[in-house]
Amino acid sequence: MRNVICLIGNPNCGKTTLFNALTGTYRKVGNFPGVTVESKEGRYRKNKDIIITDLPGLYSFSAGSDDEKAVTDYILKNSPDVIINVVDGTNLERNLNLTCALASLDKPMCIAVNMCDDLEKNGIKLDDKKLSELFGVPVVKISALKGRNIDRLMEVALNEAKVPDIKEYSGTFGKSEGAAYAFIEKHIDKIIKVRQTRAELFTSRADRILMHRIFGIPIFIAVIFLTYYLSSRLGGALGGKITQAAALLSEKTSAAMTTRGIHAWTTGLVTDAVIKGLSTVLSFLPQILILFLLLTVIEESGYAARAAFILDRLFRTFGLGGKSMLPLTVSCGCTVTGIMATRIIEDEAEKRMTVFLAPFMPCGAKTAVFGWFSYCFFGGNALISTSMYFLSILCVAVFGRLLKSLKTFGGGSGAFLLEIPTLRFPSFKDIIMVLWTKIKEFLLKAGTIIFSVSVVLWILQNVGINGYTDGNTEESFLFYIGNGIKYIFYPLGFGNWQASVSVVTGILAKEAVIETMTVVSSDARALFDSVYSAYAFMAFVLLSPPCVSALAAARRELKSGKWFVLMILFQSAAGYSVALVINLLGMLQERFSGLILSVVIGIIVLTAAALAFKKNMRSGCGCCGKCSGGVKKCPKK
Ligand code: GDP
Ligand code: MG
Repeated sequence: MRNVICLIGNPNCGKTTLFNALTGTYRKVGNFPGVTVESKEGRYRKNKDIIITDLPGLYSFSAGSDDEKAVTDYILKNSPDVIINVVDGTNLERNLNLTCALASLDKPMCIAVNMCDDLEKNGIKLDDKKLSELFGVPVVKISALKGRNIDRLMEVALNEAKVPDIKEYSGTFGKSEGAAYAFIEKHIDKIIKVRQTRAELFTSRADRILMHRIFGIPIFIAVIFLTYYLSSRLGGALGGKITQAAALLSEKTSAAMTTRGIHAWTTGLVTDAVIKGLSTVLSFLPQILILFLLLTVIEESGYAARAAFILDRLFRTFGLGGKSMLPLTVSCGCTVTGIMATRIIEDEAEKRMTVFLAPFMPCGAKTAVFGWFSYCFFGGNALISTSMYFLSILCVAVFGRLLKSLKTFGGGSGAFLLEIPTLRFPSFKDIIMVLWTKIKEFLLKAGTIIFSVSVVLWILQNVGINGYTDGNTEESFLFYIGNGIKYIFYPLGFGNWQASVSVVTGILAKEAVIETMTVVSSDARALFDSVYSAYAFMAFVLLSPPCVSALAAARRELKSGKWFVLMILFQSAAGYSVALVINLLGMLQERFSGLILSVVIGIIVLTAAALAFKKNMRSGCGCCGKCSGGVKKCPKK
């Protein structure tokens, strides 16, 4: 009896969508290679004895990245009974390369040609019989998204799968990419008619603008700007309503409990810790949801892959770039997934560097913190929280350059072979599922980590050596703890015990920063020397080590305690130094108003002059274009 089945195919061909449809579970899908980096098992919805495994996508077995190794290991260890090779019908030519590699595994196999709904829409004819003859295995046309033909696929996989038998092809496993290309090139015209689809035509036209060397960049900035601006603007407004409602609830509860003669201790715990703490976190929910909604649209439509491409080009000027751009782009939603996505990077040093840098990108929780800060300190100016995204890009560039200059991280960035997916309308179902998963995750986090933080904090704040402090915070344990570490943050402009404690709880979950501030202080504004130090605090939250879940993911990917400790030190130092610079600049600005602006304009003018000078020096004699400059000699003369 065959009952272990695995799904193998190129990234983005719809394996996870098929897995979800077959097992009735939900795993994140995305129009973006690198979304699935871990294999996952599930049971067939219609027969629970059958185990189906979703594996990370891969193009070949020869590059040696972690996800390729994971798939090879899986096949060797679990010896699946049947391989379902999922291929994207709209992209058959490239997908079949992997089929050739799989064929040399000598395992029973069948081919699922996915995205058939798109094929029909675009008027492509695909001859499944020819395809089946070519590889000697059964072929089923399906649409994983629409659930079309998937049960038929299972029947075929269970009863008719065969060990492939390809005539006139003699490649061996993991080595013969060249032979595979030639083989497919020769036969593809027999299988598929109409090679450029309408969607591809549209995509290639749109890409001329979206990925344009010059226009691409302002479009990218506008997309990111709009995403963060809308989420902090709309989300902030909705979140404000939640806070108001909670304040009212807390007031009413407090009054009701007091009139019933309940002890101040209990009343305080319920109203200040539970209601206030949780409502602060809950008030982030709209913002996070809007952010994720927009990020999902960006990912699903295929723009995220283009953004990674533009970032790559941008970062190359700093000597960075390459595959690390994908994890960095994914990190914008959640650092954990971003860090996991580093598995697609083969080069160990580059992967390590990406794990060090990915937490600099603003995740959903950090974005919520920034929204709250701009609301409290900058009159709700959404530009302030949006500026954090660009600060993070700048820091990735600068600190990345710095790391690259070290010997251990040195070496060039590999060529960027990112597949640019076709542009398409995001599917409504996927968006709803992503939002729903986010709501669940968020509520779970609020109900566990953040709830416990609230309660523990409140207790630490209201209990001291002599027991209940009766509102006298200065006798509490928390006061002593915070005071013990506050001097570290003094140069950053928030050297008080409340802000220091918030930094510590932020390690558990970034949302806890705000939640701590509201629990331990009645007016967060009093905790900062100036708006500049509040901004410095935001930068510190952005760059300092990420939350525990992300730390755990980083530890797993780095595979070494030494590198993990180095990473924490690196991120702490980065956060500290950037916050310090911001606070010092702020102090200067306050002391000598107009100074900073003058310095910035001065630097821009001087840099422009220096660049112009350098360019003129370069123009050389103009005879061969190889001339390195007027000063050096022309090689031709
Ligand atoms: P994986 O990387 O192979 O796991 O691919 P995913 O399952 O994450 O899917 C990639 C993208 O293709 C997602 O945007 C899916 O919504 C989309 N997709 C998957 N199956 C189909 C299909 O049958 N038809 C269409 N039109 N889109 C699909
Ligand atoms: Mg997947």
